[in-house]
Amino acid sequence: MAECKSVTRKYLIKKLLTTCPICEKNIYGKDIDIFNINTEKINQWPLRYIHCHSHNDIPLHALTLYLDADFSVRAREVSDYIMIQQ
Ligand SMILES: [Zn+2]
Repeated sequence: MAECKSVTRKYLIKKLLTTCPICEKNIYGKDIDIFNINTEKINQWPLRYIHCHSHNDIPLHALTLYLDADFSVRAREVSDYIMIQQ
């Protein structure tokens, strides 16, 4: 079972999940660091994943992906403003 899961994730690494509606960046499984998502600790689906990137000369922006348990993108949302404070 565990092995089956890792095979699925290897496949997901190369899978095109979605395209950013702002900059048209293709977002693959590897872009959301899929190996570091522990699905057993997630108790509410869809998973909300924020992917910040700049691409095609478009400044940094945040794309929220809503992911189902099989890592298919159910919905996506772009933030107009972001500030990350540490
Ligand atoms: Zn983008």
